[in-house]
Amino acid sequence: MAQTSVDSSATEQPKPLRILIIGAGIGGLTAALALRQQGHDVQIFESSKLAQETGAAIHLASNANGLLRRLGLDAEAIGGVECVGVVEYIPQTGAVKYQIDTAKMGKMWQHPWHLVHRAHLHSALKEMATGSEGKGQAAKLHVASRVQTVDAKNCTITLEDGSTVQGDFVVGADGVHSRARTSIPGGDKQPFDSGKSAFRFLLPTDVLSSDPQTAEFISKTGYLTMWIAEDRRLIMYPCVNNTMMNFVAIHPSKESEADITGAGWQETGSKARMLEIYKSFAPSIRAILEKADESKLKVWQLLDMEQMPSFIHEKLAVIGDAAHPFLPHQGQGGGQAIEDGVALAAVLPMGTTPADVKERLQIFEECRYERAHKIQSFTRTAGMDTAELAAKGEKLDMMVYMAYNFGHDAWDYATNALQKHLKSKDKSLRFRSPIEFGAAPGPRRPLCFHPNATKLNALRQKTPETSRTYSIKFRTSRTYLQNLLPAGFAFTSPATAVSATISCTTLDGMAWLAGGGYSHLGLYIHGINYTKRDGSKVFGTYLPVLFENLADPIITGRDELGMPKLFADIDVKENADKDCEIALSWRGTTFGTFTLSDLNEETPVANGEQSSAPVQRGPGPPPPPPEQGTFFYRYVPAVGEPGKSDVEYPVLAPKPEADAGTEFPKSFATKTATISLRAEDWQALPTLHHVSEWLAGMPIYGVEEAKLVRSTGVTDLSGARRIE
Ligand SMILES: Cc1cc2nc3c(=O)[nH]c(=O)nc-3n(C[C@H](O)[C@H](O)[C@H](O)COP(=O)(O)OP(=O)(O)OC[C@H]3O[C@@H](n4cnc5c(N)ncnc54)[C@H](O)[C@@H]3O)c2cc1C
Repeated sequence: MAQTSVDSSATEQPKPLRILIIGAGIGGLTAALALRQQGHDVQIFESSKLAQETGAAIHLASNANGLLRRLGLDAEAIGGVECVGVVEYIPQTGAVKYQIDTAKMGKMWQHPWHLVHRAHLHSALKEMATGSEGKGQAAKLHVASRVQTVDAKNCTITLEDGSTVQGDFVVGADGVHSRARTSIPGGDKQPFDSGKSAFRFLLPTDVLSSDPQTAEFISKTGYLTMWIAEDRRLIMYPCVNNTMMNFVAIHPSKESEADITGAGWQETGSKARMLEIYKSFAPSIRAILEKADESKLKVWQLLDMEQMPSFIHEKLAVIGDAAHPFLPHQGQGGGQAIEDGVALAAVLPMGTTPADVKERLQIFEECRYERAHKIQSFTRTAGMDTAELAAKGEKLDMMVYMAYNFGHDAWDYATNALQKHLKSKDKSLRFRSPIEFGAAPGPRRPLCFHPNATKLNALRQKTPETSRTYSIKFRTSRTYLQNLLPAGFAFTSPATAVSATISCTTLDGMAWLAGGGYSHLGLYIHGINYTKRDGSKVFGTYLPVLFENLADPIITGRDELGMPKLFADIDVKENADKDCEIALSWRGTTFGTFTLSDLNEETPVANGEQSSAPVQRGPGPPPPPPEQGTFFYRYVPAVGEPGKSDVEYPVLAPKPEADAGTEFPKSFATKTATISLRAEDWQALPTLHHVSEWLAGMPIYGVEEAKLVRSTGVTDLSGARRIE
């Protein structure tokens, strides 16, 4: 039976991972912020100078908004407007087709749906990830640092200037035209035109409200507004504290392809062409398009891509558009990049070692692959023209899509997946009812697996675990005690007088109880053997009952070891290692009193030995075989079947081995000791009277020895096993 030892590795501070992120878009910055908050050392390499504000507005639906809030970013603080409704107009007439109050629907979701300017979100994320404020060490941002290649195995990135940087883990967040993606086998996917392109522009809200033709469209604040025709649509929503309206005009690519030269997000669109493309729309809608500032009008192809075979390889993970480029039809591109970044951080908490990274990325992939692709597939369907939907037999069910998209928390999901994984790997974890809350802390759970391991081990080193055991060994009746023993157990000696010990231990400084302690008192019957099925015998001391004055060790001991523990109050009154009086009671009814007087210090005994074994000299019966440990009998009643057990078997807790690292115990002995056991009725001891009656009936023929043993280091009985 081993002493609970301190794992020195648990006292070392865990080391942060060195994480290299390629791309400072929304995905890369979210990952940087979340990983920084986990305590890691993060560097971001961004190809651009990040000098100009780019893009227009972006959706932060409940699923993304909740994650940003968790990271400390409030959409309201960056001008986010809550989306309270959706309205669709008939494009040709401008009349309302339908209207939904999403704020009411929003009650179903944990977090609101916000509409924010992409540049405001981007700069807030950048500040939080790289600024001096906030949890963890600021991520280091390298701008104008284009990454050319990634060596996923050696975690090395090579920049355009030929320099290399090595880390413990690489995140490819380099967008739809990702270089990192090509380092994943089968990842050399090329994005392709989905068949649709989009004009993007912003207009001040008051420009629209001051024109009677367009004022109606913004009469309700916080609305996502759509004009959907057969193969083209116009989407409008507010941002920047409702002072700006964001427009996305999605149309067949071939109609604007003359404007697209390949400049990506910065391509400038032609207003005349936009008006031509939307010529079938009602004049009131065209009046909106007329107001666009051509110098700021952007147009880009909406790119799609074949599914990646995997988002991970070796120590590289790709996230956001690099892993799964999104069409804009559900406003989930940014949201999924945010989910990716947060999920990555969730599976890489502080304490993750470089060697753990590969398997953690597997968990990341399990959390993200199916969900990102499912939302991509919903998005493709949501963008289909009416004819295409009919031809493909697809059904559009936005409510189903929204429920799936919005009702997910990527942090909780990934954290839970990590916990499940750790549980499946960690054979030291103990589970006791209730199991729903995860593994149970307790005396036999090594502290190195405990989230507070460092603090607990420090406490343990500062305040050692100590025990003080008062024991009175006495002669008693073999026949009286024999009746108590379960089948298979017997006294080894044929003598009619046998020995038993009442032993009371007070434990202090117990690390698993955060430095607290408790007392236990038990009856130990010596000279017992158990005959196994093959006829061989095991020798030991039998423990029929152990009283304890704290629920926690009773529960852990009964559940994990099968020990016969019961609750009782144990009052130990000591006088400087000289005298002691112990009272065993329950709610004021004392049913056992034990005294030891005139204790005197003995010469030190070998560590781990409670008493020296008698040495056989001269003629007489052979000495009893050495005892191998303590026996007890596990019994678990069956639910709903009175009188039956779910399981019952004998257990042996082997004797502790001498531990070179612990001090020799101090031992004090006396011949002056008393035992007084009283039978109490069911009214005084409603749940213990049967035990008290049995104990009080036990004859006491005389005290053999009485002792106090003080020692440091407490056994956790983790060696206890079924005998067979
Ligand atoms: C300029 C721009 C404007 C956008 N505007 C909108 C918008 O208005 N509304 C909307 O819904 N979505 C917009 N998007 C798309 C949306 O932001 C993304 O779908 C989503 O946020 C995914 O983010 P991401 O971080 O995966 O990729 P991105 O946002 O594309 O970010 C990728 C980053 O990686 C950098 N990068 C690329 N290659 C390398 C390399 N080799 N080495 C280092 N860095 C590299 C890029 O410069 C970029 O900063 C825009 C994206 C961009 C880049």
